[in-house]
Amino acid sequence: MKAQPTASHFINGVYVEDTAGTPIDIIYPASGELIGRVYSATPSIIDQALSAAKTAQKSWARTSGTERGRILRKAADMIRDRNRDLSTLETLDTGKPLQETLVADATSGADALEYFGGLAASITGEHIPLGQDFVYTIREPLGVCVGIGAWNYPTQIACWKGAPALACGNAVVFKPSETTPLCALKIAEILVEAGLPAGLYNVVQGLGDVGSALVSDPRVDKVSLTGSVPTGKKVYAAAGAGVKHVTMELGGKSPLLVFDDADIEDAVGGAMLGNFYSSGQVCSNGTRVFVQDGILPAFLDRLAARTNAIRLGDPMDEETQMGPMVTEAQMDKVLAYIEIGKSEGARLVTGGKRAMGKNGFYIEPTVFADVTDDMRIAREEIFGPVMSVLSFSEESEAVARANDTEFGLSAGVFTKDLTRAHRVIADLEAGSCWINTYNLAPVEAPFGGVKQSGVGRENSKAAIEHYTQLKSVYVAMGPVEAPY
Ligand code: NDP
Repeated sequence: MKAQPTASHFINGVYVEDTAGTPIDIIYPASGELIGRVYSATPSIIDQALSAAKTAQKSWARTSGTERGRILRKAADMIRDRNRDLSTLETLDTGKPLQETLVADATSGADALEYFGGLAASITGEHIPLGQDFVYTIREPLGVCVGIGAWNYPTQIACWKGAPALACGNAVVFKPSETTPLCALKIAEILVEAGLPAGLYNVVQGLGDVGSALVSDPRVDKVSLTGSVPTGKKVYAAAGAGVKHVTMELGGKSPLLVFDDADIEDAVGGAMLGNFYSSGQVCSNGTRVFVQDGILPAFLDRLAARTNAIRLGDPMDEETQMGPMVTEAQMDKVLAYIEIGKSEGARLVTGGKRAMGKNGFYIEPTVFADVTDDMRIAREEIFGPVMSVLSFSEESEAVARANDTEFGLSAGVFTKDLTRAHRVIADLEAGSCWINTYNLAPVEAPFGGVKQSGVGRENSKAAIEHYTQLKSVYVAMGPVEAPY
C-alpha cells in the first residue's frame, strides 16, 4: 500500500519539493507499513510559502465576496465528488475506519467550504448615523493566516481553518501534523482546481520547529492552532510576542453527566460515541462519564455488552467500527494510562489490552468503573479509547466535580428532565455542550473551549469575527470646529 504524495509541499499553486529538510516517514497505523515520505520544510520553503501568501492575499482581498464564495463552493462540490478517494487517504493517514471517514472527514471539510462560501458575500461592515455625520465600518481580512493542525482530523482541520480564512479574504499557510501529512495537500490541490488563485492556500510539512518559525514570522497576522494545551501555551505566547490574532482549539477532559431518568440506550450510545469514535482520539470526548447511583449498575451492564460487540479490525473494511491508534507512540501512551488506571485502583470493566497482533497499533475499547476524581485517568487527557465511569448522587455535587478541571472544551448531559438539562448545562464550564446526544459538530454551530481548552471559536458565523478586523471610518459632513 503506497500513498506517496507528488511532493512534500504545495506552494503558490504547485507541488514543491526540497529534500534538504528532515525526512518524515508516513506510517499506515493499521499495519505499521511505510507508505510514503515527505520532508520537513527548510527555511527556504517557509519563506516561499509566506511570500506567496503575502503577495496573493492583496488581490484576493479585492475580489468580491460572491466570487470568493463561488470558488469555495465549487471546491466543496469537488470534495463531495471525490469523497471515496479522500476518505481512503484519510484512512491511510490516520488509521480511522472507512465507516467513519466516508461520513465524517472530507464531508465535514466540504460542509465548511460550502458554509463559508455561502457567507462570503454577506461579510460587511455597518453604517452608524451621527446626526449629519456618520461612521461606517469595513470588515477587512487579517492578511496571512497560519493554520497548524493536530493529527486526528487532518482533512477537516485543513478545511475548518482554510474555509473561513479564505471566505474573509485572507491567505493561508497550513502546516499539518507531521503524523498526518497527506490530506491537506489534496485539499490545496482541489482548491486550485476549483479556481483559487495561486498562493492563497499553501501547505508546508514539518515538525514543531516549522510551526514555531511560521508563528513568529512578521508576515503572519493570525495563528489558528488545533493541538494540545502545552503546545497551545507555547504558540499563544509566540503569537502574543508579535501581537497576532489567535484561535486556539486545545485539549479537554470533558464531563458527561447521566442522570437516573436518562434513556439508558441513548446514554450508553452517547458515552460510547464520546469515547470510542476515532479510537477515542477526539478533543471534545466526554471521557469522564458521571453516572447517577440509581442507574449505574444497568448502565455498566449495557455499556460492557455494547463495548464488547465493537468490531475492531481492518480500517479499509467498511464493516469495521474501530481502527488502530494513529501511531505506535500514541498507542504506548494510552496503554501506559491503562496501567496507571489499574494501579490507581480503578476497576477494569472491559478492554485494556493491545489487540490485533503486533503490526497495527490497536487497543481494545476500554472501560474503567469506580474511578475517583483524583485519579490521573480522570484528570489527564489520554486521547485514546479509555472511558472512566464515576458515580454521583446529587446534581450539585456532579456539577461541582465536573467543573473541577483546568479544561473546558465540552460537556454533555443525558436526562429526560429538560429543566434540569438546561440548568446543568448553564452551570457547566465548557464551550461546546450537548443535551441527550454527544460530539455532533455541525459547521453551523460555534465550536471551541473555555478555560485552558481554548480561545476563539471555529465554525458558524462566530468564525468570521476571528478572521476579520474592523476598520472604523468617521465621515464629517460639515466644517471642522477647531478651538484654535
Ligand atoms: P500537539 O499539540 O502535539 O501538536 C499540534 C500541532 O502543533 C502539530 O502540527 C505540531 O507539530 C505543532 N507544534 C508542536 N510544537 C509547536 C510549536 N512550538 N510551535 C508551533 N507548532 C507546534 O497535538 P497533537 O498533534 O498531538 O494532537 C492532539 C491534541 O490536539 C490533543 O490534546 C487534542 O485534544 C487536541 N485537539 C484539539 C481539538 C480542538 O478542536 N479543540 C481537535 C483535535 C485535537 P508536529 O506534531 O508535527 O510536531
